[in-house]
Amino acid sequence: MPKRFGVGPPWWHGRFRECGYRLTTPRESILDVLSKTSKHLSAEDIYLEVHNIYPTIGLTTIYRTLGLLVQMGFVSKFDFGDGRARYELSMGPKSVGHHHHLVCTSCGRVIDYTDFIEEEKELLSKTEKELSKRYNFKISNHLIQFYGLCERCKNKK
Ligand SMILES: [Zn+2]
Ligand SMILES: [Zn+2]
Ligand SMILES: [Zn+2]
Repeated sequence: MPKRFGVGPPWWHGRFRECGYRLTTPRESILDVLSKTSKHLSAEDIYLEVHNIYPTIGLTTIYRTLGLLVQMGFVSKFDFGDGRARYELSMGPKSVGHHHHLVCTSCGRVIDYTDFIEEEKELLSKTEKELSKRYNFKISNHLIQFYGLCERCKNKK
């Protein structure tokens, strides 16, 4: 097991038990890495981090484990349009909770924001309501990403 900081077992132990999955070293290592960053990491980034604490792990295991963690709802998978999937913790005390993204297409910076403007919340709830009706579809979540230039890149132009 990788070395952990702090006291007591991390919050994900209970959830693994509930779901009936074993908490293996790769699973725990990946959650550990993701819980210590606010960045959106690619599978390769995660691999490099986990590799430090668990040198025998392979990239295939990382991909497979990430797939399971996404399926279990621990981790969210995103595509920011640069050809690499990114992963982010979607539960637990360290997670930002439901948020939207501002993606800079120049430097790749991703801003997580939760301070939704009123119009945005209103538009989304209306849209979801109408779509559910029109397609008889039960919407459980959505993914909102805006692409453009961040403050730094905008000023460089
Ligand atoms: Zn939202
Ligand atoms: Zn930028
Ligand atoms: Zn995010």
